[in-house]
Amino acid sequence: TYVVTDACIRCKYMDCVEVCPVDCFYEGETMLVINPSECIDCGVCEPECPAEAILPDTENGLEQWLELNATFSSQWPNV
Ligand code: SF4
Repeated sequence: TYVVTDACIRCKYMDCVEVCPVDCFYEGETMLVINPSECIDCGVCEPECPAEAILPDTENGLEQWLELNATFSSQWPNV
């Protein structure tokens, strides 16, 4: 899965949302998150993000962000 990280905070350009083929972005007040159980790992959102906030969960040190994406994607509205 891909993960939205803190570089998204107060950005929300939403370019990623437009390209996601499975609509797995969810929106909170200050950032977006990806639902890890819906993301199909296509990777098309990563280069679209002007803040470079989206990373594959295979990168080191993203455990806390993955957990945050999983938690908030079940609470926030789909976008
Ligand atoms: Fe959507 Fe693909 Fe990005 Fe996953 S990797 S959030 S499926 S655009």
